[in-house]
Amino acid sequence: MDLGLYIDGRSRPSASGQFFDSSDPFTGEVWSRVPAATAGDVDEAVRAAHRAFTSGPWAEMTPTQRGRLLYRLGDLVEANADRLGELEVRDNGKLLAEMLGQVRYLPEWFRYYGGLADKIEGAVTPAERPGIMHHIRYEPIGVVAAIVPWNSPLVLTVWKLAPALAAGNTVVVKPSEYSSASMLYLASLFGEAGFPPGVLNVVTGVGSEVGEALANHPLVERIAFTGGEGGGRAVYQAAAKSFKRVSLELGGKSANIVFDDADLDDAVKGAVAGIFAAAGQTCMAGSRLLVQDSIHDAFVDRLVSFVSQAKLGDPLLPDTDIGPIATPPQFRKILDYIDIAKGEGATCVLGGTRAEGQGLGNGLFVKPTIFTNVHNGMRIAQEEVFGPILSVIRFRTDDEAVQIANDTPYGLAAGVWTQSLDRAINLPPRLRAGTVWVNAYRVVSYLAPFGGFRNSGIGRENGKDAIRDYLEAKSVFINT
Ligand code: NAD
Repeated sequence: MDLGLYIDGRSRPSASGQFFDSSDPFTGEVWSRVPAATAGDVDEAVRAAHRAFTSGPWAEMTPTQRGRLLYRLGDLVEANADRLGELEVRDNGKLLAEMLGQVRYLPEWFRYYGGLADKIEGAVTPAERPGIMHHIRYEPIGVVAAIVPWNSPLVLTVWKLAPALAAGNTVVVKPSEYSSASMLYLASLFGEAGFPPGVLNVVTGVGSEVGEALANHPLVERIAFTGGEGGGRAVYQAAAKSFKRVSLELGGKSANIVFDDADLDDAVKGAVAGIFAAAGQTCMAGSRLLVQDSIHDAFVDRLVSFVSQAKLGDPLLPDTDIGPIATPPQFRKILDYIDIAKGEGATCVLGGTRAEGQGLGNGLFVKPTIFTNVHNGMRIAQEEVFGPILSVIRFRTDDEAVQIANDTPYGLAAGVWTQSLDRAINLPPRLRAGTVWVNAYRVVSYLAPFGGFRNSGIGRENGKDAIRDYLEAKSVFINT
């Protein structure tokens, strides 16, 4: 299947006519060809977005009308959820059940921000000087570049698209070179929903070319980036050159903390969901499991016996627990980190190798892996692996748990497992992370700001304040 760029309301090949292959991580087969956009294509997409922003139907639309389009888009996403979910699995190998769950939730983002579109209210301040009236307006910024990774392509795009469009901006999306198909399908729904041409554009290709061309384009005024530290730094530097507004959602090394008063069945399930969902390829992975000394050995035994039963296999089958690793570079990186952990003296109590054999197709699988005897100073405890590798770290007191949890360059998320009300209330404020779950893990909502402290990024997505990040405040003084 040959895909097309989506520019100015129509699908077309890249100017060079070049494609790159997209392979199914489970079968290993090339299942689609994605256009390799040129710098000229990026320029055309940005100019189309700029035209749509400055004149024509989108620029003249009332916020209520914009909101209605977002509602219509939400309905179309709902009607097409199965197809969108399936395309995501073909590209990134995550479980169909997980991708369908994500896609079926997306309409709520369009509805929530669609509803907020006509609630962006300015203010008239009290008169501070005689004869001068002052009011505050909120206006859209302009062309937004949304640059997103492969692990949850649509979710991470919609977190940007919905507030950006509700605020009246126009957008150029650059999906990951590993997962462009679902975004291009979503783009086709924009026309059906009635969005004018140029409001949404999609350019595909590698980050160092297409992503950089987009981030550096002079008509782009706001960049919303999700991805790794390297890409994040490059985008931040590009933004600095012309003071573009920027938000960065980056990686994590999140601590999932199990206290001795926790419901241990729940905590085992929470630890497993924390790290082994999506084969660990999630930014919020609870990759460091901090377990209180008094229950450490018994808890690790329960965890190992639970995870040993996990079924690796075809992500499209409903009884599969863990799918393949999405890309060959990611697979090699994970195996390298297993060697690093062993070299550092961590004890591998489960997994520790690739998995091959019947039922695994041509996929690159890594066995769910658990290391104990991990100290927080080790690289395996400090660096993001983005794979099914859990590092178990022992702690004694609450203070020690907090100290270890915060001893990381990241700060995306944390989990706390306890039945103590005191801990449930008093620990979250002490944890330097953008999201803290108590007796839960991996819950997100359109209502709840998501983002990280420190190296996990800048800014927050979701929640009602996210729309402000796509607006400029303007003060108007009128001499009456
Ligand atoms: P990545 O940084 O390699 O790529 C992300 C996107 O940026 C891709 O579209 C890529 O083509 C583009 N890109 C790469 N280099 C670029 C450059 N120099 N200029 C412009 N664009 C560039 O990340 P990835 O490997 O696709 O995704 C995994 C990373 O994403 C992990 O670190 C993970 O933690 C992070 N992530 C963060 C969140 C979050 O919400 N905080 C969510 C999901 C993933």
